[in-house]
Amino acid sequence: METIARKTLLYKSGLGFWCVNHAVGCSHGCKYPCYAYMMAKTYGRAKDYADWCRPKLVAHAAELLDTELEHKRKKPESINLCLTTDPFMVGYPEISAMSLKLIAVANGQGVACSTLTKGLYPIELADRGRFPLENVHGISLVSLDEGFRKRWEPGAAPYAERILALKALHDAGSATYAHIEPYPTPNLIAQDLSAILQAVGFVDKIYFGGWNYNALATGFPDRLSFYDGQAEIVGRFCAERGIEFR
Ligand code: SF4
Repeated sequence: METIARKTLLYKSGLGFWCVNHAVGCSHGCKYPCYAYMMAKTYGRAKDYADWCRPKLVAHAAELLDTELEHKRKKPESINLCLTTDPFMVGYPEISAMSLKLIAVANGQGVACSTLTKGLYPIELADRGRFPLENVHGISLVSLDEGFRKRWEPGAAPYAERILALKALHDAGSATYAHIEPYPTPNLIAQDLSAILQAVGFVDKIYFGGWNYNALATGFPDRLSFYDGQAEIVGRFCAERGIEFR
């Protein structure tokens, strides 16, 4: 696949956590819209949507991270993969392979990793010989309806496969979480949140959040009380199961 050169990889995001983004672009092509795509288009890193959906890998990303961590006097406690791309995106095994290398490099220097994907996790991540630290792996999941996924996350992994791959990591002893955001309002899809919660009821932590940056969702009447009600459902579910709720 096409590669790009970078001088640095590790950075502290405006949200306050450390991140690496070892690709530009993402084959999942989310239409929520994807904030990373909008920024890439604004700043000339992606010509258009088609260009964004053909990701470019950062060459020598593992060596870059190794060197940067080596030189840090105070190493981060944890690194996030990724904020502006997807570490296990569908159709790009080179990116997944690099994600594994980066996690191994970070763990080798005593730094844990937290990952988030709409793709498929490889079971190798549960190999504590290669990844000795307590890494945390999560999926984004806002529906179980494949019609919804094809409309809003056209290139991402089917929901059932996404959940199964995460469950395999959980069963192998890894810490896992589900990121239920941006949760759609009923005018976008009528669905039962409880079914989604049941599907990921094995995780250690659940994040829940509304859909704030699409006129279709923000225009929904009673939006705030709808989200309050849904958050209560998540809170109850988590409390009953001993799952951390954010
Ligand atoms: S998976 Fe994330 S980075 Fe990729 S297109 Fe969707 S929102 Fe953007």
